[in-house]
Amino acid sequence: MDDTFIPYGRQSISEADIQAVVDILRSDFLTQGPAVEHFERSISDYCGVTYAVAVNSATSALHIACLAAGLGSGDILWTSPNTFVASANCGLYCGASVDFVDIDPNTYNMSTTALETKLIKARLAGKLPKVLIPVHFAGQSCDMARIAELGREYGFTVIEDASHSIGGKYLVEPIGNCRYSDMTVFSFHPVKIVTTGEGGMVVTNSKDLHEELVRLRSHGITRDPALMEGDNNGAWVYQQVELGFNYRMTDLQAALGTSQMNRLDDFVARRHDVAESYNQQLSGLPLILPRQNTYAYSAFHLYVVRIDTAKTGITRRQFFDAMRNAKIGVNVHYIPVHTQPFYRKMGFSEGMFPEAESYYEDAISLPMFASMTEQQQERVIKTVRSLLTK
Ligand SMILES: *Cc1c(COP(=O)(O)O)cnc(C)c1O
Repeated sequence: MDDTFIPYGRQSISEADIQAVVDILRSDFLTQGPAVEHFERSISDYCGVTYAVAVNSATSALHIACLAAGLGSGDILWTSPNTFVASANCGLYCGASVDFVDIDPNTYNMSTTALETKLIKARLAGKLPKVLIPVHFAGQSCDMARIAELGREYGFTVIEDASHSIGGKYLVEPIGNCRYSDMTVFSFHPVKIVTTGEGGMVVTNSKDLHEELVRLRSHGITRDPALMEGDNNGAWVYQQVELGFNYRMTDLQAALGTSQMNRLDDFVARRHDVAESYNQQLSGLPLILPRQNTYAYSAFHLYVVRIDTAKTGITRRQFFDAMRNAKIGVNVHYIPVHTQPFYRKMGFSEGMFPEAESYYEDAISLPMFASMTEQQQERVIKTVRSLLTK
């Protein structure tokens, strides 16, 4: 039997992807050029959104999205504790403070009940958030209609962290159409659904946000005469009108991204097949399998199971170590952000977000990627079954 290491996630690269990158190497542009515009259009067309701004990572995308939302010192950003640290760090980059909203115990997404309770208290205390970042955990959409309703009532900007969920749907429409948010962010890291090596994107339907995002991506520089001051004669003139960054994506990355987008629906369909096999073949074991809300069609970035400790003697730690010993790359998503040492130093501690903490105690991500073979999945299932039926 094949016993090479099976990762929890990995990219799927075709000959067409390789050719697309080689073509760029032979072209006039290496960094942000026509291929970036082409990639932006492929994403905005797919999502049914007006504008797309490609950048060098989702972390950069979250940063400039927060800045474009006007987030700054004295402001507050709320996100989920069950996410990668980048969803929270973007608030700190802007000089704002960060807080969290506990998760729903069924979907592991931000709980809209917890959100409403926290908003009521925050209004009384005069500490309402300026920006809310719901994270579509594992690829499953949050309850966006409710979040948008609360956004209107309490006046915050909504930035969806859709790093896990390109190709997923909410109420039959693509995640990223921004019908229920101001901006949506995607990641193209190799473990995500489609990849550019490193890369990210902000999408929006707002012309003003789009213009701001484009400037922030490249040093705060504009070439638009309408935005310039004083003498702006001469085709060479550009003006820096605010402080931006070099967050540009290269044409090499963008060409890979556009080529990958041709297979996005196939990738997600394949991930659903993998999830369906797991669902069938792991049922009846002392595991809590992923639960899907009726409004969501997940992109299935992750397949997370929870060890049902009431029904088995094996701990998550023992299960994790045994899987890794069998060369199966399980992982844990996520260590609650507020329990990270850096966040503890800001005053966060265990007990503050109990649902996220108790989920974290027994969660484990099984290998899930579009290029996973049936043999690989069989090996994962066999190993899980043998560990849990002893
Ligand atoms: C991967 C990820 C990010 C960061 O993405 P990069 O492209 O690596 O910067 C942010 N948020 C979530 C939820 C992620 O999973």
